[in-house]
Amino acid sequence: MALTIVRVCAEGRSVRLDIDVAVGDGGCPACGCRSARVHSRYRRTLADPAIGGRQTLLRVRIRRFFCDNTACRRRTFAEQVPGLTTPYARRTPLLRGILEKIALALGDRPGARMTRLLAVEVSRTTLLRLVRAPPAPEVEAVAVLGVDDFAFRKGRDYGSIIVDMHTGRPVDLLADRRADSFADWLRAHSGTEVVCRDRASGYAEGARLGAPDAIQVADRFHLLYNLTQAVDRVVRAHRRCLKDRPEAEAVAQPRPSTNGEQGRRAEVTRQRYAEIHALHVKGIGTTAISTTLNLDGMSVRRYLRAATADELLTETIPEPVNSTNTSLTSLNAGSRAAPTRPG
Ligand SMILES: [Zn+2]
Repeated sequence: MALTIVRVCAEGRSVRLDIDVAVGDGGCPACGCRSARVHSRYRRTLADPAIGGRQTLLRVRIRRFFCDNTACRRRTFAEQVPGLTTPYARRTPLLRGILEKIALALGDRPGARMTRLLAVEVSRTTLLRLVRAPPAPEVEAVAVLGVDDFAFRKGRDYGSIIVDMHTGRPVDLLADRRADSFADWLRAHSGTEVVCRDRASGYAEGARLGAPDAIQVADRFHLLYNLTQAVDRVVRAHRRCLKDRPEAEAVAQPRPSTNGEQGRRAEVTRQRYAEIHALHVKGIGTTAISTTLNLDGMSVRRYLRAATADELLTETIPEPVNSTNTSLTSLNAGSRAAPTRPG
């Protein structure tokens, strides 16, 4: 099929190409009969990838043919230009393919921002529609699969994700995390040799029922997660031992003021502590104290909670247990997001 570009014109931020379909006949989509008898012509506008950073629109002159098959329910039909038009589409297959790839790689909002930069701007809902439109790919046998849960709504609804551990790609999603659902999936997709899972009983039971010959292993993430949980518990239990060490005590002591600035701050803190507690003893409320001393309520409450002024001066030094938490969190973050329940 020959296409002729009749005119190219740049208008503002877009380029428009007027295109005629030169020769050939059309096939009726209902009966498949070919026809060259033209009923009418009209223009269809299709968006294409940008040229020179400008939005590109193709105005294609489409022919409408008569269907001469008397047995056919259609009297006329519009031609489709291979590689350029598809029924009802407002974009060329090339642009549609690019947008689908952007949506799959970046997701909806970042994808929509990227399309703006590429001068093929579409909304995030359009990107979501493009991703959902093609049928889901067929799931084939997965020799080494990983299974874990994910939250539709945290604390309420959970589903399961099945991952091909060789390629690292998700292959399927299940609507819940029940053992029988997982077992049904394994029966429908035979050929699983290894199941990589957390230590919860649900998936273990599902694997035992659905793929009894498969080897079950604990996945690396859950092994690490359980190890860090155990270490955390031990460190918390022995927190007092860490505090009893002389060097830890030395850190916990208020640092002597080595310069005037620190000395003044300590003096102000002690004076404020005395004022706030004096008013509190008289039965004056937090709000009234904060108004009288021109302080915010949170600061007043912090002063009232402290047993001594020195406590306020040392409270910026982190507790040993806090630093342990930080390191555990960063370890988890480096591996993967924390799971919804410990395995
Ligand atoms: Zn027909």
